[in-house]
Amino acid sequence: MLTSGSIARPLRSIRVRAIGAPLTRSATCRYYSSSKDAKDGAVNPSKTYTATMLLPKTTFPLWAEPSVREEPFRQRTTSGLYKWQAEQKDRPLFVLHDGPPYANGHLHMGHALNKILKDIINRYQLLRGNRVDYVPGWDCHGLPIEHKALKELGVRHETISPIAVRKIARQVAERDMKVQMEEFKQFGIMADWSHEGTYRTMDHDYEIRQLRIFQKLVKKGLISRRYRPVHWSPSSKSALAEAELEYVEDHKSFPVYVKFQVTGGQMAPGLASMLENVRNGKDEPVHLVIWTTTPWTLPANMAIGVNAKLDYALLRRTEHPDEGILIIGKDRLEALNKVLGEYEVLGILPGSALAGTAYSHLFHSSTSPAPLVTEWSDVEAGTGTGLVHMAPGHGKEDYAALTATGLLDKLDIVCPVDDGGRYTDDVVSLAKDPAVGERLRGKEVLSDGGKEMVGILKESGVLVGQGTLKHKYPYDWKTKKPIILRATSQWFANVDDIKGAALRSLRTVKFHPEISRSRMESFVRERSEWCISRQRAWGVPIPALYDAETDEAILTAESLDHIISVLAGKGVDYWFEGPVEDFIPPNLRNDGRKYVKGTDTVDVWFDSGTSWSLIKERLAEKDGDRLCDVYLEGSDQHRGWFQSSLLTATGAAEVGKEAAPYGDLITHGFVLDDKGKKMSKSDGNIISPLTIIKGGQNKKKDPAYGADLLRLWAASVEYGRDVSIGPKVLAQSAETLRKLRNTVRFMLANLKDGEALQGDFKPATREELSLIDNYVMLQLQQLEQTCREAYRDYNFPRVVASLNRFATNTLSSLYFDVTKDTLYADPVTHPTRRATITVLSEILHTLVPILAPILPHLAEEVNQTLNQQDSTPVVSAFSSGWREMPLDWNNPAVSQRMDTLLQVRSEVMIALEQARKDKCQRVRPTTEHGTGEAMSEHLRFAGSLLKTLFVVSNVQVLHQADRPSERLLCERVIDDRGQKLVLRVVSPADLKCPRCWQFTRSAEKDLCHRCFTAVPPQ
Ligand SMILES: [Zn+2]
Repeated sequence: MLTSGSIARPLRSIRVRAIGAPLTRSATCRYYSSSKDAKDGAVNPSKTYTATMLLPKTTFPLWAEPSVREEPFRQRTTSGLYKWQAEQKDRPLFVLHDGPPYANGHLHMGHALNKILKDIINRYQLLRGNRVDYVPGWDCHGLPIEHKALKELGVRHETISPIAVRKIARQVAERDMKVQMEEFKQFGIMADWSHEGTYRTMDHDYEIRQLRIFQKLVKKGLISRRYRPVHWSPSSKSALAEAELEYVEDHKSFPVYVKFQVTGGQMAPGLASMLENVRNGKDEPVHLVIWTTTPWTLPANMAIGVNAKLDYALLRRTEHPDEGILIIGKDRLEALNKVLGEYEVLGILPGSALAGTAYSHLFHSSTSPAPLVTEWSDVEAGTGTGLVHMAPGHGKEDYAALTATGLLDKLDIVCPVDDGGRYTDDVVSLAKDPAVGERLRGKEVLSDGGKEMVGILKESGVLVGQGTLKHKYPYDWKTKKPIILRATSQWFANVDDIKGAALRSLRTVKFHPEISRSRMESFVRERSEWCISRQRAWGVPIPALYDAETDEAILTAESLDHIISVLAGKGVDYWFEGPVEDFIPPNLRNDGRKYVKGTDTVDVWFDSGTSWSLIKERLAEKDGDRLCDVYLEGSDQHRGWFQSSLLTATGAAEVGKEAAPYGDLITHGFVLDDKGKKMSKSDGNIISPLTIIKGGQNKKKDPAYGADLLRLWAASVEYGRDVSIGPKVLAQSAETLRKLRNTVRFMLANLKDGEALQGDFKPATREELSLIDNYVMLQLQQLEQTCREAYRDYNFPRVVASLNRFATNTLSSLYFDVTKDTLYADPVTHPTRRATITVLSEILHTLVPILAPILPHLAEEVNQTLNQQDSTPVVSAFSSGWREMPLDWNNPAVSQRMDTLLQVRSEVMIALEQARKDKCQRVRPTTEHGTGEAMSEHLRFAGSLLKTLFVVSNVQVLHQADRPSERLLCERVIDDRGQKLVLRVVSPADLKCPRCWQFTRSAEKDLCHRCFTAVPPQ
């Protein structure tokens, strides 16, 4: 025997229930189909007794075209809902401030992920009783739109007036914005999409507000004009901010080794004395060898940097006996073997013994003082020659280092390159030999100019070696062309002065994910200034006046006061078309000077960065330490909008009152294809969010999934890092959505679309609920709490996973399965059935708000179905709020008891399945149990619940082992830590009831006892 000393003895035979077999798929599949049963001679209940059963009934379709199932609820759950909630003035305010997308082109998956995540947050906040302030915006100014406008006009920007460019650019932005807005609406975003409910950086009010912030920065002395190197895009003919750069990993350069001859005029004593020793009285030349990846910058050379602490070698090359002596970093010699060939080292001296030595090169004009070797601690022995060519006109580090030495106070920065990236006339006057300069003049430094330079070096005999190099190099993010560094006169915001306060204000910001804090902080820390001027027409002007003769710039808080008031009255375009006289402030009008207007516009990151001021103005009521509760954008915005918002807010604040404009800062990754590759036109792997919603041309390949599915995908991905999407991922989301839809449909159908809860229906009290009911309520409470916390923490994948698990494990496989019998066959007033209906209603009403932020259309559809019998018009599912469940549902005793029963249940299910498989399907299985002491106690305590839980006609818990019944179909043993339990499935002794299909009918009766009492007398 298999039992642990206990003997199983059948007390009574019991029949497997097969109720509802013709009604639901799961029940049909479990044991036998109705047709097979009919062959067995049983009465088909669907014919005779269907009318007497409480069968599920609903108008809620299993599945329908998204256009049919979502469209009717779109307005109610988006603009209508936003309007309704905005009127609930007594609610606390929650502000999610929308980072403006660039108003250019159709929406892509990145837009979809971004807007849907924001919408989920907003909808949850609304359900929690808050009033949501969410104003969608657009970033409208800037080069890409200006380019598009010029392209459509078919003209170059040099040939057209700024005001004409602005007019067309505005139209382009308006047109593209309209397209994007219609596409955003398809995502089911809760917002007021009217002109008043949205913002644009080209709105008049927005521009004036932005200028006022600019004025505050000017007043604090944070804005200055400087001639210095900036990232310059020759293809855009404009300065670029760091955020407008893209780093290409495999940019190809042609680095060169070049020798610069030491002039006798000025020489460091250490070098001089060593030369005396090694030259042996000969007057041979001495060269400093530099290495550069950008030979085109050589005309701008102003110094050579050496590290005082590194050693440098003096050497003579065997194959070049007339060349003289070369000086190269000692640690680089081995790496340069190939370039140098055979050589003899004559002596070693430290870098400090070279500093102060004068030299000359091809572009060192005789009229300017000779450049010098300079100590520079940043010089490393890792690459190059240990001697660094310093061109402050083309390098930020060079500029900073030479500024620190005071050299640039005495000398003008050399930068003979124009805004198109071509050598200017200056290169001719810089060159020792004007003919050399002529060869370069007008040529593009990144193409033919650079090549010409290498030719010149070769011909002049100063080229020691050359090679090729693949390395990381900055490109213009819009034109995808390489950029250069070029000194120009630009307006800068001094970040150094405010970054301490900015970093301090980040301390109170909550970062999601937390790891992004250090990323953001390092971006702020590394920035010392922000080049805010752009040489384009389509933007907010930097309203500076210039002295026409001296080029002196006038930009003061007072001059701006006057100019902004003029622009506030006449519009910002007036800067470009109005006479300069109108902009000269009264105190300068009669000073005898002639002024011209500046033509620079403000960096678009400054535009969008000041958007927080819109909230400040609109929501004067919003106080506390956070102006906006949440900012949520892609991770690239740590360099972009998050930072420009922080810096403008810090710069414009009163000293000591600086605060970040956001409380929670959330970032999401990029959307990649299903192979983890970036989506691009050239790879043909772009998935459009609109295609997911509406379907593609080939509906088989690209089915119309609807907005809820796109939203479910967005909620289910770990958005903190890069995420992927593809047909397989979408099909998985569709399966989850189908499951959730079926789950709510089952409940709606048994609640008769809400009808079952009306009239004289009396909900069951807690005391009337069974152990299973209590267990499901406990699970529901845990789901509610988990999802509430997950939404609060912006952990949406956790919500989706919890919902999915609850629908599958708790409802579909357990509760729905075990309650079908009472739901279909018990009388409507039966206490068990009433308890079940009460629990189903609780589940549905709790579940709808949980899924609503992610699946608003489904939530509205359920809400509509549930309330359609109401005489009052149905309102949004969001209006009734979140249903927080009392904690006391979480009763440990309930879960403990159920855990044991569920463990037995899963074994019973296996045994039943086995019995069904082994025996021919005409045999009717029955279960019996024998058990160890503790287990049997547990099972006996459950009483009649067992047959419900195991979905069989009867269950017997026996004290002792017995010889197997002659009707035994299957036997199974559970060994739980020494406690043995024998499960026996036996065929039923009673007959099948034709109404409920349980084997509980005695031969002399037409129906089982339960059905007999449930069916009204004929
Ligand atoms: Zn029956």
